[in-house]
Amino acid sequence: MKGGRLLIVEDEPALIRGLKDSFTSRGYEVLTAADGESGLQLAFSADPDLILLDIMLPRVNGFEICRAIRAHNLETPILMLTAKGQEEDIILGLNLGADDYITKPFRIGELAARANALLRRSKLKPADICRFGDFELDTAAHRLFRRGIEVELTAKEFKLLSHFASRPGRALTRTDILNAVWGHSVIVTPRSIDRCVATLRAKVEQDPHRPAFIQTIRDIGYRFEPG
Ligand code: CA
Repeated sequence: MKGGRLLIVEDEPALIRGLKDSFTSRGYEVLTAADGESGLQLAFSADPDLILLDIMLPRVNGFEICRAIRAHNLETPILMLTAKGQEEDIILGLNLGADDYITKPFRIGELAARANALLRRSKLKPADICRFGDFELDTAAHRLFRRGIEVELTAKEFKLLSHFASRPGRALTRTDILNAVWGHSVIVTPRSIDRCVATLRAKVEQDPHRPAFIQTIRDIGYRFEPG
């Protein structure tokens, strides 16, 4: 998809300039904010299709921006620009409502691809049928088929797969998965998630050790790539 309105919240002038030029030449309308306060204002007033959000910002930081946006039920996809080796920051941002992240320094091509993926998916309506590879997940009927043949899933595996399928291409933390699939009240460890992912992979991945659909993001969680 070409275009869309992009809001860049970043306080490094050189990076803002580079990003603005790159995305403008890719057909985007680009708005920029150099501090968190004006970024937050633009997020609400300018109705962007996607927000590129730095975390360490003057006045209001990226975490507070994520929190405020989601607290007001604004669904705008948020892609965080994070520093290398800041896994805890990334997890916090994702848990506060960011959809994905990219680590600085990044290649503009990779950032553009991730931005496109988020834009494309935010425009899709949630469907009852999700297709990935040879599979068809029917969330209404609670059934998974591979080339028309039903694949047996446990209740937890089904819930986990449905959660992945409803958030394709997004970085999901273990906390997010835990709350969505197991609920807040149940005591489970991140290990339970990894075990459920392992049994699910054994059923849907051609090579569970080199998964194509349910990808591990080291130190963060998982990302579902329907391809
Ligand atoms: Ca910064």
